[in-house]
Amino acid sequence: MIKIEVITKDPFYNLKDLNCISLGKRAKQSNKDPGSISERANYYVDCFVAKHSTIDTMQIKIVDDHCRGDVIGHIVRSTKKQPRFVVQSKRPDWNNGEKRKAPDEEYKLFASVWTVSSFMEMARQRLCGRAAEETRKWVINCMREMDKSGDPLLMALSLCSVPNCVFQAGCPETFQCGKDVGISVACSSSILRERYRYYHNKFIEVSENADKPE
Ligand SMILES: [Zn+2]
Repeated sequence: MIKIEVITKDPFYNLKDLNCISLGKRAKQSNKDPGSISERANYYVDCFVAKHSTIDTMQIKIVDDHCRGDVIGHIVRSTKKQPRFVVQSKRPDWNNGEKRKAPDEEYKLFASVWTVSSFMEMARQRLCGRAAEETRKWVINCMREMDKSGDPLLMALSLCSVPNCVFQAGCPETFQCGKDVGISVACSSSILRERYRYYHNKFIEVSENADKPE
C-alpha cells in the first residue's frame, strides 16, 4: 500500500510568503487558513506550471510497504533535483540467512522524499511509454493516491506530473513511445493546463472529487 504525505509545515503559507518576499513584501497571517481546497490547489498549480524556484521548499514523503525490487531500482535511479530514498535491507545476515532473490521477485519497504520538482522530473521519465510497465504503474498509483488525498498540494502535484512526451509535446526517447496515441492529442494544446488536464483525465482517471483543481 502506498501512503503519501506533505512533510512541510504550513506549506500554503510558506509558499505564499516566499512568493511575496520575491515581490518585497510578506504574506498575510490569514494565508495560514486560506479559502477552499480548490482555491489552494489552483494557486499551487499556477506555481507548479510556472516552475517558480520557491516550489522546491516543500517536500512530500511516499512510503510503499510492498514495492517490487526492480521498480525500486528504477525509481532510485531518478536522481534529478536530488530526491532521497530509504530502502529495506535484505542482506542474508540480517534476515536469518534468507537468500537474496531476483529484483522482480522481491518486495521491500520503500520510502522516498521528494521536492515538488524532483517528483515531476521523475514522472516525466517514468510515465513515458518507454518506461517499464510496472514502474509506470507505480508512478500512476502514487498520482491516484494524491488525487484521493484531498490535500490541495498533492492534488496539484498529481495534475502537473506528466510524461516528457506531454511536457515537451513529443517523446524525446531514441525509440519513441508512440503507442499511446492519445498522447499526441494531449499535446495539441499550447495551453499547458489544458494539456496536463487532458493527459490526467485520460491516463490517470481522476477520482470523483468535487473540490479538485481546474
Ligand atoms: Zn514517450
